[in-house]
Amino acid sequence: YAAKRARQGAVTYSPEIDKSSQKNLSLLSDMRAALERNQFQLWVQPKVSLHDYRLIGVEALVRWVHPERGMVFPDQFIPFAEQSGFIRSLTHWIMDQAAQTLKLWQAQDLVLKMSVNISTMDLMDQDLPQKFAAILDQYALATSQFCLEITESAIMDDPVRAHQTLDNLHAMGMDLSIDDFGTGYSSLAYLKQLPVNELKIDKSFVLKMDKDNADSRIVKSTIDLAHNMQLRVVAEGVENQQVMQLLRELGCDQVQGYFLSKPMPASQLTVWKQDWEQRAAQLPTSGT
Ligand code: C2E
Ligand code: MG
Ligand code: MG
Ligand code: MG
Repeated sequence: YAAKRARQGAVTYSPEIDKSSQKNLSLLSDMRAALERNQFQLWVQPKVSLHDYRLIGVEALVRWVHPERGMVFPDQFIPFAEQSGFIRSLTHWIMDQAAQTLKLWQAQDLVLKMSVNISTMDLMDQDLPQKFAAILDQYALATSQFCLEITESAIMDDPVRAHQTLDNLHAMGMDLSIDDFGTGYSSLAYLKQLPVNELKIDKSFVLKMDKDNADSRIVKSTIDLAHNMQLRVVAEGVENQQVMQLLRELGCDQVQGYFLSKPMPASQLTVWKQDWEQRAAQLPTSGT
């Protein structure tokens, strides 16, 4: 048992093998305390339309600002949060922050849509739809302002229960997105039964699609597949203008990536938007 914890620690929290076991034992209590002490932060990354370069919405990406470790990225604690069940408390906090932030931005006419990542453990919670409904009620926001991003593997852990929760969330009016599309093991036969609105092409296919023909063919096929299934398609991992223009020529609907903006603290979105509108005015708007 200790060895298993140590192994998990080595991959999910700390690369230092000698101290990892002890550190890992305290990770769960650290995360709980972090929630109490407001060490988690809601960061956001813009999603932009390829039709007119307008800001469509943002994706919420959690950050943990640890007093000793500094910035801890989600890949270092989300897996452990899932294994321990802590993710449910964290997801609740993120949804609350996301709603509070969106309420403010709506009043400022800044942006109206927010995407939130959810995990397997969240999908296994039958009460998740009601919990989300209660939060949005509290801020008087519409369910249609929220999109939930779920990876194929999170769904395939328990496809039957996942399908049930997704049906309920969708019936409430929330949009659903398949995140990291192309990297999981779900079948199209299964996916077509889900009430999905959006496919997000995994960044591994997008990052070098301006240099790698195989990648760009995969991206093209995925865009066509999504459109044939009446789904909106978003590319993540857009790091330069060439890739953005290629995606535009291929008919992709929306983009996200470092070329537009790295994830930023929610408070920086106003300034980013002003800057982006100036950059966007210089971009080509048709054909070539
Ligand atoms: P994801 O949902 O697929 O999010 C996209 C990740 O790609 C983010 O990493 C983002 O910072 C990064 N990214 C965006 N544009 C670019 C780009 O142009 N180039 C490169 N190289 N990377 C880019 P991040 O924020 O470290 O999050 C990693 C993963 O952690 C997320 O992948 C998501 O699965 C998970 N995660 C993040 N926040 C949450 C959360 O609030 N709840 C849950 N359950 N999972 C979260
Ligand atoms: Mg995501
Ligand atoms: Mg993704
Ligand atoms: Mg990912």
